[in-house]
Amino acid sequence: MPAAAHFYPQGAELQRKNYIGRKVNKTELHIEPKAFDLEKIRRDFPILGLQVHGKPLCYLDNAATTQKPQAVIDSLVQYYSSMNANIHRGVHHLSEVSTKAFEDARIKVKSFINASSEKEIIFTRGTTESINLVANSFLRGRFEDGDEVIITGMEHHSNIVPWQLFDSIKKIKLRIVPVDDNGELILDDFEKMINEKTKLVSVVYVSNSLGTINPVEKIISAAHKHNVPVLLDAAQAIQHIPVDVRKLDCDFLAFSGHKIYGPTGIGILYGKEKLLDELPPFLGGGDMISKVTFNGTTFNQLPYKFEAGTSNIADAIALGTAIDYVAGIGIDAISSHETEILEYASAKVAEVPGLKIIGTAKNKSSVLSFIFDNIHPHDVGTFLDFEGIAVRTGHHCTQPIMDRFCIPATTRASFAMYNTKEEVDILVRGLKKITEVFN
Ligand code: PLP
Repeated sequence: MPAAAHFYPQGAELQRKNYIGRKVNKTELHIEPKAFDLEKIRRDFPILGLQVHGKPLCYLDNAATTQKPQAVIDSLVQYYSSMNANIHRGVHHLSEVSTKAFEDARIKVKSFINASSEKEIIFTRGTTESINLVANSFLRGRFEDGDEVIITGMEHHSNIVPWQLFDSIKKIKLRIVPVDDNGELILDDFEKMINEKTKLVSVVYVSNSLGTINPVEKIISAAHKHNVPVLLDAAQAIQHIPVDVRKLDCDFLAFSGHKIYGPTGIGILYGKEKLLDELPPFLGGGDMISKVTFNGTTFNQLPYKFEAGTSNIADAIALGTAIDYVAGIGIDAISSHETEILEYASAKVAEVPGLKIIGTAKNKSSVLSFIFDNIHPHDVGTFLDFEGIAVRTGHHCTQPIMDRFCIPATTRASFAMYNTKEEVDILVRGLKKITEVFN
């Protein structure tokens, strides 16, 4: 028994060390993009062949979640049919295979966002959990009463509520960067908002309700002049534009697997190693510890310090597959296709009588939000559904920006790499029909 008790944890330790910091053969994980072939891409996504209410599915709700290519679906099936075992702690074959696949997925994420080390890549449940992780670690390690966090007027609720949850423990003041009528940040006074109480700037990279691509480089360099770290909510950036954390020099970056053609329930927190090292863990439990006694606990090395309990192994591996898939198409090619679709759609919807676009920033990505004076967005969404068109209606978890525009909700069409101009035409025909019916 004593021998086994010694052997087992050492085995687990060895298994970890094999993966973190190991030299990876670059060609092993590097994927060269192929030519952008829209028809082939559409064939890769089985759900796009569905009929809805007797009409071909026209899926334009990609900001809510993206559809999954067959490779991602296969990855989940393959994991559960040939690899399923708990990771890091086992010395048997299946555990080693699943540990390798899990840690390879981490390396794929690292390469995709150009992080310096796998230690900087934390698996979470998604953007929401990633932001909550930073908020809670700051609460334990850095915040004092009256400290300030700067966010913007166009944040998703997941970058507002976590900071407000501490109210009964510590009072954190939120300072808000205002938004102009086009949906662009007014940055004139941004630097003046930073003071000795500012502990973090936490901003959305691409707005999910307006489509604005924020000038985050400018924000980061201004914040860094005052030694304030910056967290980027990249939930709507990672699938649309190249994201290079070293070039951006952001301190944290959060995204969700399901927005980038991967599964739900898995996401990433990137953090600079030095900062992650300094911060205390968020959740306690198995895998995040080095030694536990009833008197206290020492924590595991990065990234495990922030990954308590059994991870979402299958979905992490499938996220790696999704990243391979996106890398195989090429994020630049995806970005230019989506820009073409957005420009086409923005011009086409202008033909629809009474339609007003909300969010007309110069630099936009993949989101077209709009309202009618006399038709409620929910009626628009329901009507379009009968045409087989999936759009999102509501406040998109961004109620403060709806208040800013004095509207309760919008209808939002959001585009992905597989959308076509024909689908935009279908949307516009549907919208014209609605105006005929309602007027
Ligand atoms: N931030 C933005 C900009 C989003 O669009 C979303 C989801 O729509 C989130 C955060 C939250 O993502 P999740 O629900 O996957 O955690």
